[in-house]
Amino acid sequence: MTLLLPPTGGGRRSVRIEHAAMPSRLEVAGGPDVFPDWDRARDDAGALRRCVLCREEHMYRRKLLPQVTGLIVVLAFTLALLSLLGYFGGPVILGIMVVVLIADLGILLFSPESLHCYGCRAEYRDLTIGQWHKPWSRAMDRRLSKGSPTIDPDPSTDV
Ligand SMILES: [Zn+2]
Repeated sequence: MTLLLPPTGGGRRSVRIEHAAMPSRLEVAGGPDVFPDWDRARDDAGALRRCVLCREEHMYRRKLLPQVTGLIVVLAFTLALLSLLGYFGGPVILGIMVVVLIADLGILLFSPESLHCYGCRAEYRDLTIGQWHKPWSRAMDRRLSKGSPTIDPDPSTDV
């Protein structure tokens, strides 16, 4: 799998981990080494149960959509708009839109998924994702996010 470390000011550093390996130390280019905790981090099938960096058990799955997806969406809307305005029509435009639709469905169905940690924002790619990991949830994100520091609304109360 590929582990993308939590984002920092200078971008994201990544490290490749072999499928069944559980290294106690990860040498990451451009930064300090990382010491993952693999204790009960995987189930019997090898799927990741929790984050090996911050031990958070709540993680979410997300599709890795290629950048061409946005282009296809724009192309589909443009074609539909031109068709509605009467610039195009007939079987040719219908054929083009069917091809665009099939390409879009193919991307949605076959693009790989990644696993993300709610706690530290680490991302795991190229791995088997357990079915118990659900898509991102706003409520869960609010409850578990450790990203932003709390700001005292009234600093004058500090003595
Ligand atoms: Zn984490």
